[in-house]
Amino acid sequence: MSNYKHILLAVDFYENSSAISQRAKDLALKYQAELSIIHVVDNLPLTDTGYGAEIPFNIDFTNELIANAKKQLAKIAEQLEIKENQQWLEMGSPKIEITRIAKENKVDLIVIGSHGRHGWALLLGSTANGVLHHASCDVLAVRLQEN
Ligand code: AMP
Repeated sequence: MSNYKHILLAVDFYENSSAISQRAKDLALKYQAELSIIHVVDNLPLTDTGYGAEIPFNIDFTNELIANAKKQLAKIAEQLEIKENQQWLEMGSPKIEITRIAKENKVDLIVIGSHGRHGWALLLGSTANGVLHHASCDVLAVRLQEN
């Protein structure tokens, strides 16, 4: 296994996120690697205006969703001692945003849960599967059991 220098932890705030976070932290300590964290706000309610652009149908609700996500991300980051400039809150498709941020920041290992909110019906969750297909670095899918 190579000596990882920059690890990116992807969290969805699902109940078992702490097991994945702990694994990422352990690996970062083992390899003396930088540790970053990402959450992607997906499925924002959008409406088609008919003018070409899509806008959130309720700005207040969208802002509240983003503010809550930011708080949750900061809370986990604090527990893992991840600095603010290494916390990523993105909007869009999780697999696209996770792999984009990884590429732009020279991440060499993405740590992700095998299953989260979307994935229990599948052998591997849809995000984990998508990240594996899109990433140009190593991906560790931490095996999670359904509670
Ligand atoms: P899922 O595809 O929902 O089964 O999720 C599998 C794993 O992908 C989760 O355990 C997280 O590590 C990651 N993941 C899922 N959704 C997101 C998201 N919106 N932002 C960041 N990571 C995510």
